[in-house]
Amino acid sequence: MDIAQLSEKIIKGDRRALSRAITLIESARADHREQATELLELLKDTNRQAIRVGLSGTPGVGKSTFIESFGTMLTGQGLRVAVLAVDPSSARSGGSILGDKTRMERLSRDPNAFIRPSPSQSHLGGVARRTREAVAVCEAAGFDVVLIETVGVGQSETVVAEMSDLFVLLLAPAGGDELQGVKRGIMEMADIILINKADGDLKPAATRTCSDYSGALRLLRKRPQDPEGFPKAMMVSALEEEGLRTAWEEMTSLVEWRRETGHFDGRRAAQARYWFEEEVKQRLLARLRTPEAQQAMGDAADAVAEGAITPTVAAKRLLESLND
Ligand code: GDP
Repeated sequence: MDIAQLSEKIIKGDRRALSRAITLIESARADHREQATELLELLKDTNRQAIRVGLSGTPGVGKSTFIESFGTMLTGQGLRVAVLAVDPSSARSGGSILGDKTRMERLSRDPNAFIRPSPSQSHLGGVARRTREAVAVCEAAGFDVVLIETVGVGQSETVVAEMSDLFVLLLAPAGGDELQGVKRGIMEMADIILINKADGDLKPAATRTCSDYSGALRLLRKRPQDPEGFPKAMMVSALEEEGLRTAWEEMTSLVEWRRETGHFDGRRAAQARYWFEEEVKQRLLARLRTPEAQQAMGDAADAVAEGAITPTVAAKRLLESLND
């Protein structure tokens, strides 16, 4: 494959080239990895910048409905929208979020939208790297907005927040007056909390939930990257397509403020550091997964169990042997 040619096509907005590039990125083959790395190097210099929006929410809150109507609203404004997903469970369950395109039928037929399901990988590190690289390719391809969806399980929100310019948490109206057990750490990551399904019979509950979260957000420590009034909670109805424009206005005003104050670039710089360190860790772990390393680990563990060698010395020797 001619990588320079592929890169040019992507920059020109060729969707098939974009799909091929992402397939390349998702491949585990060593030669594909090399080509993907080369491609990312070439695309790095386009200097195009999308607004990367991370979107998280537990199954059933309405993520796909929201992406469908929000994405369609954005393309209606002349914006080009890419939708990617981080779903570490997809390899296990066989199904994946976004896997079923009928969930976003309108958007998937929209010439200004590009939807890509989560790569199937068994560990989050692999999914994270591939999605992060796919975000970079979509950005080089000239998309204005990249939505990165994840289900609210385990570490995946952190991973998505680390590749987003802003992080949106989607919630459903709560039955009682309790805060739906959203973990404090997740709430602290959110820039905007959207209470979805604020329509029909659910409207009163949505209003209550929204004011509960507004209160809870006010109690959080003020972050330097937030202008007055952020993070904030708002109501939307993905189904009735209400509140979506306002939500987008809030997102863009936040991004504008962060751009002017340097927090936008600051966050991306911090993220670059984070991913560099992650990549180093992943590569070290990959070295431990080779059959030789596994054998050496097993032997060393046996020796440690027999008391022939201390765990500290065994670990030190093992790591030294990996460097050869
Ligand atoms: P996901 O699992 O988070 O992707 O959620 P879905 O988008 O599949 O939505 C789950 C259910 O909630 C579906 O039955 C949707 O029709 C419904 N739903 C989604 N958004 C809204 C909304 O704004 N209002 C109402 N009333 N229902 C909604």
